[in-house]
Amino acid sequence: MQQMQKKYSKVFCSAIACAMGLGVALLSISPAQAQVVNSKLRKHKMDILQPLTVYFVDVEGGQATLFITPEGQSMLVDTGWPDHAGRDADRIAAVAKLAGLDHLDFVLLTHYHTDHVGGVPQLLARIPVVEFIDHGPLRETTDAPTVQGYDAYQKLLVQTHTKHLLATPGMKLPLYGLTATVVSADGNMLAAPLPGAGEQNSFCKVSEQRPTDQTENARSVGMVLQYGKLRLIDLGDLTWDKEMQLMCPNDKLGKVDVYVVSHHGWDHSGSPAFVDGIAPRVAIMDNGENKGGSPSTWEIIEKSPRLQNLWQLHYSAEGGATHNVAAPYIANLQGKDTGNYLKLTAYPNGRLVVFNARTGQSQIYPAP
Ligand SMILES: [Zn+2]
Repeated sequence: MQQMQKKYSKVFCSAIACAMGLGVALLSISPAQAQVVNSKLRKHKMDILQPLTVYFVDVEGGQATLFITPEGQSMLVDTGWPDHAGRDADRIAAVAKLAGLDHLDFVLLTHYHTDHVGGVPQLLARIPVVEFIDHGPLRETTDAPTVQGYDAYQKLLVQTHTKHLLATPGMKLPLYGLTATVVSADGNMLAAPLPGAGEQNSFCKVSEQRPTDQTENARSVGMVLQYGKLRLIDLGDLTWDKEMQLMCPNDKLGKVDVYVVSHHGWDHSGSPAFVDGIAPRVAIMDNGENKGGSPSTWEIIEKSPRLQNLWQLHYSAEGGATHNVAAPYIANLQGKDTGNYLKLTAYPNGRLVVFNARTGQSQIYPAP
C-alpha cells in the first residue's frame, strides 16, 4: 500500500497539489469528491497565477491608466491634464503608492493633446520614470496647448536623460509575461491581423464612413494586450475613421474581454464596426462629468453583443437620466467628485474583477 501510495502520489501530486497537501488524499476519495478537489486545484492554480492589474485614475476626462503586469512591470498610459495644482499627478502618484510602486517602468503617451501629455512635468516631479513611449514628432502644430504640452515633454526628455521608445504598428512593447502589440501609431495602422483575428466584420455595413480626422487623436498609439486567454484593448483617442481601417472589411483585432473605452466615450470614436466587432465583456470609460460619455457612444457600447457591464469614471452630464449606468458602476457621482479610481484585476483565463474605490465594492466576472 505504501508503495502504491508513493506511485499514485507521484502521478497526482503536481507542485500545486503537493503544496496543498492533496496528492496522497486523492487515493481514497470517490469520483464526486475527486471532482471537488480538482475544481479546488484549478481555482488555486488560477489564483496563484499573478493577475494583470489596471488602475483607471480619475483625471477628469483625460486619460491616466496604470497597468501593472503579472511580472510586476508598470506602464502608465498618459498623464492627464496640467495645472490644477498638480491634481492629476497627485492622483496618479497616490495610486502608484497604493500599488507599491516607487517608480514607473514606462509611460506611454498615446498622443500629445493636453489631457494626455499635459501632466508629464508634474508627474516627473513626483515619481521617476525609466522610459517614455510615444508615436514620434507632433504633427498638429496649429493648436497652442498641444504644442506647449509637447514642448514641455521634449524638454524634460532631454533634461532628465530619460529613455525613449518609438511605437510603430506591429511592434511588441517590452513587457514580460504578456504580449502587448501596438496596433496604431502616428496615423498608421496594423497591416496584418493579430493571431486569431482576420474574419470579415459584419458590423462594417452599419457603420457610417466619416471624413479623415486631421488632429493628434488619429495618431494615437493603440495596443492590444494578450495574457493567456485574456485580451484587453486601449486605443487612446483613436478616431472613427481609423477604427474603420482596423476593422473593415476584415477585423484585424479580434474579440476582447476588456475595452478601455476610446476617447473618453466621446462620439468622435466608438463606431459600431469597432465596438461590436471587438465585442468586449467589460468596458471601462474614462469620461469626466462634462467630457465624453456621449449618449450615442454610450448606446453603442451598452448594446454591443457580449457586454456584461460598462463602468464609468464619472457620471456623464450629457448622458443625463437615460444614458448613465447604475450608480454602483460609477466611480464619481454628480457633484461629489473626490477623484475615485476603478481597479481591474484580470486573470489569464479571462476571470475579471472590477473594484470601485467609491463604494468599496467589487464585481466578479467568471472566466467565460
Ligand atoms: Zn483625450
